[in-house]
Amino acid sequence: MSKKGILVVVSGFSGAGKGTLMKRLLEKYDNYALSVSATTRAPREGEEHGREYFFHTKQEFEELILQDALIEYAQYVDNYYGTPKAYVEKQLNAGTDVILEIEIQGALKVKHKLPDTLLLFVTPPSAEELKRRLVNRGTESMEVIESRLRRASEEAKGMSEYDYILVNDTVEECVDRMHQVIQSQHDKTENCRAFIEKITEEIAVFGKGE
Ligand code: 5GP
Repeated sequence: MSKKGILVVVSGFSGAGKGTLMKRLLEKYDNYALSVSATTRAPREGEEHGREYFFHTKQEFEELILQDALIEYAQYVDNYYGTPKAYVEKQLNAGTDVILEIEIQGALKVKHKLPDTLLLFVTPPSAEELKRRLVNRGTESMEVIESRLRRASEEAKGMSEYDYILVNDTVEECVDRMHQVIQSQHDKTENCRAFIEKITEEIAVFGKGE
């Protein structure tokens, strides 16, 4: 119902399959824009500047902070990550739903700044499955995997702050549920104020005619 786009934050343990889910959501459904974050982490093989991330030096990143060009930023396992503001605002104003795939500290900062934000947390069905997915991905050393699992045990404590928990058992099913949850936000009363005002005025005419 609402004309403005919904701002959606998707968080989840590293290895929960967020990347695959996001890719599939965008392929399957129109009207989603995925925000590309800025980071100081080194590109993984196959990652491109401007596609997966805007890769920056620490100095460049600190410049973005000073320019107030980020909606939020956070430190995650020794690197900075942040959400560029201009793109998100432009898409929301154009009526496109915008997805931020960010970690929990950033998610809570966005919710604080923009309370209408929808917070979704994606998790594998079990801890064992989480470790298996991280190891099978094969993109990180065992040391990095262990630090990400430690971080996951911290992040689990914040899951209750989210609006919805989505268990990623099979990708297709999880993507469909994510889409339904996001679309239902358009019909929330607070997102339909303009419509309520309009129809109330129109219906008032009937009242006068009595
Ligand atoms: P990765 O290094 O695996 O690409 O990302 C590490 C973590 O940083 C993930 O949990 C990811 O969601 C998060 N992240 C990516 N971009 C941002 C961002 O712009 N802000 C914040 N706060 N976290 C981000």
